[in-house]
Amino acid sequence: MNEVDNETREKIEKIADLLIQSKNAVILSGAGISTESGIPDFRGPDGLWTQMDGNEMDLASIDGFERAARGEGSSNLLDLLQPLIEKLMTARPNRAHKAVGKLYKMGLIKAVITQNIDNLHQRGGARNVIEVHGTYKTATCMGCKKKYSFEQLIGMVMEKGMFPPVCKECGNFIKPDVVFFGESLPPIAVAKAMEYSKTCDLMLVLGSSLVVYPIAMAPNLAKQAGAKIVIINNEQTDKDHLADIIINESLGVVMPLVLEAVQRKMKSSS
Ligand SMILES: [Zn+2]
Repeated sequence: MNEVDNETREKIEKIADLLIQSKNAVILSGAGISTESGIPDFRGPDGLWTQMDGNEMDLASIDGFERAARGEGSSNLLDLLQPLIEKLMTARPNRAHKAVGKLYKMGLIKAVITQNIDNLHQRGGARNVIEVHGTYKTATCMGCKKKYSFEQLIGMVMEKGMFPPVCKECGNFIKPDVVFFGESLPPIAVAKAMEYSKTCDLMLVLGSSLVVYPIAMAPNLAKQAGAKIVIINNEQTDKDHLADIIINESLGVVMPLVLEAVQRKMKSSS
């Protein structure tokens, strides 16, 4: 119970009240919610992307992928992706994902907009997850658009020792459904995210530094529509000036306390 100071505890109580009072609360999550599950914050100070040199950045771009598909530098791209793939396969939802999942099941959250590709919100119990940077769980043939599961994709990569693998139906290359550098975001997911932002009455920003556009605009849209904004992140964000409540603490500590406060308040009022 003494995990947070009194000031933070008061803020947690207020967040719980806001969640109970709201009719259309949405969550906007970023890499910070998954770091406690062992998924690196790609763009953070120690992140995979930040540490990359220009050559590696180039490999992880959509151009790099297309070159790999033409057989140029295919093994380098696989080497680069391997540590990330291993982390995604072994990661488990943490206390913050599970608290969000419970709040969703209680009907207190309408949607989870996430910049993460790791599927951990779904595994933590949340539904209506809008994945604006795609997901690692599926892949799509660049020719006939046939869908493959991650497991099928990995099986084909192992079998042939080649990345990307080739579609069984049409012979075109199969691309994971994650957004590569230089690639545009999935338009339907972005449109949905913006619509939820414009119509919500409460937005909880969890573990996003709010620097990647267009999603970094979502709190602005919510604020303009009159929503309350709560930001919980390890460090300052670019949108702190919009927030009604800011907590700079670990999400794995704060979110279970928010859930606990909500459950206590709802029990005492029923
Ligand atoms: Zn195909």
